[in-house]
Amino acid sequence: MISFLDLKKINAKIREELIESCTRVIDSGWYIAGNELSDFEKKFAEYTGSRHCIGVANGLDALNLTLRAWKEMGRLKERDEVIVPANTYIASILAITENRLVPILVEPDPITYNLDIPNVEAAITRKTRVIMAVHLYGQLCEMPAMMALAKRNRLLVLEDSAQAHGASIDNRRAGNWGDASGFSFYPGKNLGALGDAGAITTNDGELADTIRALRNYGSHEKYKNLYQGVNSRLDELQAAMLSVKLKFLDEQTKQRRNVAQMYLDGITHPSVTLPLTVGTCARTLESHVWHVFVIRCKQRDELQQYLAEQGIQTIIHYPVPVHRQQAYKDWNYESYPLTETIHQQVLSLPMSPVMSTQDVEAVIMAINNFTCKE
Ligand SMILES: *Cc1c(COP(=O)(O)O)cnc(C)c1O
Repeated sequence: MISFLDLKKINAKIREELIESCTRVIDSGWYIAGNELSDFEKKFAEYTGSRHCIGVANGLDALNLTLRAWKEMGRLKERDEVIVPANTYIASILAITENRLVPILVEPDPITYNLDIPNVEAAITRKTRVIMAVHLYGQLCEMPAMMALAKRNRLLVLEDSAQAHGASIDNRRAGNWGDASGFSFYPGKNLGALGDAGAITTNDGELADTIRALRNYGSHEKYKNLYQGVNSRLDELQAAMLSVKLKFLDEQTKQRRNVAQMYLDGITHPSVTLPLTVGTCARTLESHVWHVFVIRCKQRDELQQYLAEQGIQTIIHYPVPVHRQQAYKDWNYESYPLTETIHQQVLSLPMSPVMSTQDVEAVIMAINNFTCKE
């Protein structure tokens, strides 16, 4: 059986160091908002090249609290519009609606699955205030053009970097392009904790301060509450795990790129569309960290079934678009044809830094031997 992502194997490689750090936290007697968190925040800010990093409970809160902070700072108000790709994971959009802002869904670029600059430009109205640039599947959006467009239109840019830890263009990483960036450290993400965790990176000190208060009941100072905040913490144990895991991230990204390259070179089935890493967005190897390796196939469901029979586990990111979810039933009759096609055709192949060459070859061989009914 070739699993989609073997977290046990990934963490087993650094087991001793994880346990050492766990022991240190247990013995410290300090479990929330201590040195482990501030250490990790410092390291992750440095890693992304940003001035500030604020740890929070999860990736959804990272996006949510950034938008909330901009509201508290007077940069956004209810009913303002946020441009977001229609094919993103639902968390991006939940953060927008939770803040009573209006998501404006736009169709993605069909090659990179990321925001398409002309579509973004066409969606800008007098009410637009934010572009949420989701670096989907691990590939950085075309950020130089995106930032130029935002600047021309005086828009804020919030990166959703939940899948793109370490991806860069011109040596500038995810988390250091927009006005702020939300990260998730959900266990299956490229940098994953052993539970839930998230963070915001930004170069804006006022924003960082506001988020620091919001995550802590709206308080900068004990028993003095400036905002009606929330409790959204990255605890000491998870921060310590993340500090260990951050040291191995670049090496693991390299291993992911090797797997991706083998897939790109090896898969030749005429009915399978491979992710394209050349062209407007993905100009370089560095812009993609292969959170997932997504292929497209018109006979996707048959292909997935066939691979399962061969003992190869695959996942669909994502089977149902947000506008077709019961949670957003008012949008159910809206039409985003490209997004709908993507959801019908995409399939994510096994991908991880610990996948053996043999397993990658077995996946390639299985796909190339797939016989389409059509
Ligand atoms: C995982 C993810 C999130 C949410 O992160 P959580 O830590 O699970 O809350 C947001 N956006 C995208 C694109 C994600 O993949």
